[in-house]
Amino acid sequence: MQSYPATYDTLKQVVEDAAKILGIPTPELKIKDVRRGVANYRGGWVSVPRWAVERGFAYAAYYVIHEVTHHHPDAFGHGPTFKHLEAHVLAEFGMTIKRRRVYAKRLHALSGPVLYSDADAK
Ligand SMILES: [Zn+2]
Repeated sequence: MQSYPATYDTLKQVVEDAAKILGIPTPELKIKDVRRGVANYRGGWVSVPRWAVERGFAYAAYYVIHEVTHHHPDAFGHGPTFKHLEAHVLAEFGMTIKRRRVYAKRLHALSGPVLYSDADAK
């Protein structure tokens, strides 16, 4: 997991790479001043809230990957297939996820170090 600045362009690259890994068309990326992200399958876009981008690249990339995974035709809701696909894409990006029920409690680099912990979140 390399670290980049969390910008529109670096996250757009994450969208493109994640879509390629999932074998789906690349959705458009929107960064919005909202509370929660959206995966709009019919509209062909995903949105990520600005607060998630401000947590840094690892968390922002995870959030983007989460929303892009919702575009996979086999990923219903947050079920087992969704979680499997999301974990697969995260691994391709060099990350493993420790979840609460659905969302990340911690993100680790494959080599071990913690990249994000929700204990850091305000
Ligand atoms: Zn979701």
